[in-house]
Amino acid sequence: MQTLEPWQWSEEQWRKIVGHVRAGRRLRPRKWPDDAHCAIALSFDSDHETNELRDGGKSIGRLSWGQYGNRVAIPRILRLLRQHDVRASFYVPAVTALLYPEEQQGVAADGHEIGIHGWIHELNSALSYEAERDLMLRSADVLEKISGTRPIGMRTPSWDFSPHTLRIAREMQLEYDSSLMADEDCYELLLDGEPTGVIELPVEWVRDDAVYFWMNRFQSHRPYTAPSDVFDIFRRELDAAYAEGGVFQLTLHPHIIGYRSRIWIVEEIIRHARSLGNVWFATHAQVVRWAKQEGSGATGT
Ligand SMILES: [Zn+2]
Repeated sequence: MQTLEPWQWSEEQWRKIVGHVRAGRRLRPRKWPDDAHCAIALSFDSDHETNELRDGGKSIGRLSWGQYGNRVAIPRILRLLRQHDVRASFYVPAVTALLYPEEQQGVAADGHEIGIHGWIHELNSALSYEAERDLMLRSADVLEKISGTRPIGMRTPSWDFSPHTLRIAREMQLEYDSSLMADEDCYELLLDGEPTGVIELPVEWVRDDAVYFWMNRFQSHRPYTAPSDVFDIFRRELDAAYAEGGVFQLTLHPHIIGYRSRIWIVEEIIRHARSLGNVWFATHAQVVRWAKQEGSGATGT
């Protein structure tokens, strides 16, 4: 059969593609717990060595970058969060959890959430439904066995959400995903127009440290932004979320943000948030559950 180019697609075809996974009800609560003005949801994607392994890479240098995430960055991040009494969410590929079970146990013992982040940080859109489902289920099993709690949420590796991901999440009775970007508030995900009960806590590249700091020695991939500029962007996002009574969500990576010259960004964000007034630091799971229960249900357009 001849493959049609996108400009040859019928209206039915492109509408079907666009309509497959969509944002439904917007869930902005009238208020947050204890009358807080704003929810602050910090997350750390503990990719570590899987960033190298997932493409079949075996570079000892880049694997050591991953080990830094475990040896230096995670302890530094946990210390900081403890010092400021903040709970966050950690999204952990199963291979990271198997390499570092004690790290996950420490994260869980500090009251943080652990969510699914693929098996080896694979790209979901490269997989069949059966393969993606098998990896998601095995990943949930590994995280449950190691941390003692079955994850209720996921973040697709590289935010690569396949045409099957939502169906699998619903089959697994996951409560939420955090890897799409149709809104700044939580919303219910629709599958082919039908509400699924799965809630999205949206992410955005502007609120992701990797965009500003990530580099690859052998590619022209060096989008360097000064840490003070990154702080400025995050702070403006936070100020606006506070003014609107919404959610401020951040995606950070231990082996990117955990350096001496960058970790202060997280600390200053926490300090700045507290200086604004009454804010609610919460895990993604807590934010999603509150939004689902208290959200106004207005349809976002
Ligand atoms: Zn990741």
